[in-house]
Amino acid sequence: MDTQDPLRDFREQFYLPVGKDGKPLIYFAGNSLGLMPKAARQVVEEELDNWAKLGVDAHHAAGTPWYSYHEALREPTARLVGAKPTEVVCMNSLTVNLHLMMATFYRPTKSRFKILMEEPAFPSDTYAIKTQIVHHGLDAKDALILARPRKGEFTIRTEDILDLIKKHADQLAVVMFGGVNFFTGQLFDVKKIIAAAREHGIIVGFDLAHAIGNVPLKLHDWNADFAVWCSYKYLNAGPGAVAGAFVHERHATNTKLPRLAGWFGNDPNTRFRLHLEPEFIPVPSADGWQISNPPIFAMAPLLASLAMFDEAGGMEPLRAKSFKLTGYFEFLIDQIGSKRFSLITPADPNARGAQLSIQAHEHPKQLHEELIAAGVKCDFREPNVIRAAPTPLYNTFHEVWRFAKILAE
Ligand SMILES: *Cc1c(COP(=O)(O)O)cnc(C)c1O
Repeated sequence: MDTQDPLRDFREQFYLPVGKDGKPLIYFAGNSLGLMPKAARQVVEEELDNWAKLGVDAHHAAGTPWYSYHEALREPTARLVGAKPTEVVCMNSLTVNLHLMMATFYRPTKSRFKILMEEPAFPSDTYAIKTQIVHHGLDAKDALILARPRKGEFTIRTEDILDLIKKHADQLAVVMFGGVNFFTGQLFDVKKIIAAAREHGIIVGFDLAHAIGNVPLKLHDWNADFAVWCSYKYLNAGPGAVAGAFVHERHATNTKLPRLAGWFGNDPNTRFRLHLEPEFIPVPSADGWQISNPPIFAMAPLLASLAMFDEAGGMEPLRAKSFKLTGYFEFLIDQIGSKRFSLITPADPNARGAQLSIQAHEHPKQLHEELIAAGVKCDFREPNVIRAAPTPLYNTFHEVWRFAKILAE
């Protein structure tokens, strides 16, 4: 499988962390922090050189001018999420962007004030949404609705999500869901959730932290209102790399929408008139939500990383390999057939991404520690789940086979 893999050469373009024996670890933690592309060092050094040599002039004179650096990220990002370039902007970090989107799209009224999200959601999302509710003088006890797995199940049934939307249709202001759940690896039916919410005039947004660079997305066609994501997981852009946001064209061009603004969301023609222009005139695109000047050192690795996704041919070939890689992983784990652990990730390849979540029934922490000791990099989530994500850009079938062998032993 590795020799037949059309993407096999990409592994060479990454630094592979090594274990005590000096050999590369089986790195299945790309859902947490993607590996470093070798090109990242070069682009960051280039910008350091620009700073050293050009100082303030690098804003306009650098190869990729700093002033409009975010524009260089726009098209490759749009391709990954299935958006028009004017619908995306790379800025800030994920949770900050979630707050910015909620500031625009969560406008609770007396009758419509509820938010639907999934449980378990990533804690940052829960904190963000709960404090948004409090920020509007409301109580999460009344305003927050959680879609949960049924008793004895681990993943959330689409029908249950759609039922909740219908049941609370008149009171829901926002549906804010994950694309791929961080804990179970479940890929939600984003298209159906959007359609159901919009049918009832409910704003619908997604946190794509575990979905971008992992599964194909069509945010524009599916008609999502907004989305946010980070870039350090499957996008391999490095720790704290600059995140992104999607605002559908029908909102992005609406300069009347309320928002939390800063100078980089303002029309570039008047931006530099500074104190002479106290009136905020938003750019009629997702850029209108940008607040500050682009953080170049946190953006440069993203530029390098996005180029690799384009070079690989986009999400389609990556997803094709991912199906095989994770499918093989699942097959091997099923073959071991141990009563000591089971998979809580959906068995349907269309309902998951790269990650498998392995529930350990006995001594879960010890099992995880032994995997680590054997040279596997995966993580542990309380109370008993080991998450392992073979990623199609740099992992191999042989690594999957070795992981399964270590697990069996
Ligand atoms: C990784 C992740 C985050 C992290 O948020 P930051 O603002 O980047 O620290 C938030 N939400 C989800 C769903 C995540 O998977």
